[in-house]
Amino acid sequence: MKYTSEYRNEAEAQRYAQALAHITTRPWTLMEVCGGQTHAIVKFGLDSLLPDGITLVHGPGCPVCVTPLEVIDKAIHLARRPDVIFCSFGDMLRVPGSDTDLLSIKASGGDVRIVYSPVDAVKVAQDNPEKQVVFFAVGFETTAPATAMAVHQAKAQGVDNFSMLVSHVLVPPAMEAILSSPERRVQGFLAAGHVCTVMGVKQYEPIAARYNVPIVVTGFEPLDILQGITMCVKQLEEGRAVVENQYARSVRLDGNEPAMRLIETVFEIAPQKWRGIGAIPQSGLALREAYSRHDANRRFGLEGMTADEPAECLSGQVLQGIIKPHECPAFGAKCTPERPLGAPMVSSEGACAAYYRYRGHGL
Ligand code: SF4
Repeated sequence: MKYTSEYRNEAEAQRYAQALAHITTRPWTLMEVCGGQTHAIVKFGLDSLLPDGITLVHGPGCPVCVTPLEVIDKAIHLARRPDVIFCSFGDMLRVPGSDTDLLSIKASGGDVRIVYSPVDAVKVAQDNPEKQVVFFAVGFETTAPATAMAVHQAKAQGVDNFSMLVSHVLVPPAMEAILSSPERRVQGFLAAGHVCTVMGVKQYEPIAARYNVPIVVTGFEPLDILQGITMCVKQLEEGRAVVENQYARSVRLDGNEPAMRLIETVFEIAPQKWRGIGAIPQSGLALREAYSRHDANRRFGLEGMTADEPAECLSGQVLQGIIKPHECPAFGAKCTPERPLGAPMVSSEGACAAYYRYRGHGL
């Protein structure tokens, strides 16, 4: 298939659903890790095509949603400084911090700029040598290569007024945390295809073996997702638990090796806090000592800042597949896209936003 429309062919989707019903003999619960897949599932009503026993739960794969509250507070603190130009992807601007958000800081005069690439932020620093320019480096393995490129370039070119507030997260340790939880419901994973275009699939093989869980690397179009679900259920029905690649048109087994080398040059694996979930060992990326001059935490003395997350937002449970968004008491009442309590209601990949947008708030 060459065109997007072919991956959205309704008759073909029905055929996948029938094939899936044919092989399903027992109930199974699968998690799609990526928020982009969650949006496709909810938008196209793919879950309504599945046999009754197949339950999809939504995972932690939304970079905006999992960025810790205290890091949002740090971003706001920096954006308020008159000597700082704060550069961010647009999605982060409406994420609520403890008392405000970046968009409100921008509206009240803070120099907050939306960039489409971290390298653009380096250019802002070059163009504004009298200012400190901070880039908000968030996201999974997918965005880490561009972030690494930006800081590598800044160091090589001596752009000393450029630093990064880093909150990168890694998918495999989060999957292990979900599988290790006593509240575990997940029996199979649809792994996010774009993450695997960077990291490859080998890191998943020990997880599939250790937890006896099928992992199918899956794309983002409706037929990709239905095929990924079918491959996953087929493994479960046959008692197998291996890594399979549905998204072979984009994902190679070894991933993007130059990108991985660049990430390893700039970052080291570190403990990481996930919003709503808490600390997950070895699940983040921190700048290596050689790049510490470009670490905004150190430059602005932010290392000790912490924040308590509001108890009424159940995003941690949503992001671990323990509850669905509409099962949060605040959904559609105290929490709406206009007045969000938590990041999953704001982000374009957030599960709560997907349910609100495509299913309505009366669920
Ligand atoms: S509906 Fe709002 S309050 Fe509830 S989990 Fe989602 S973002 Fe948090």
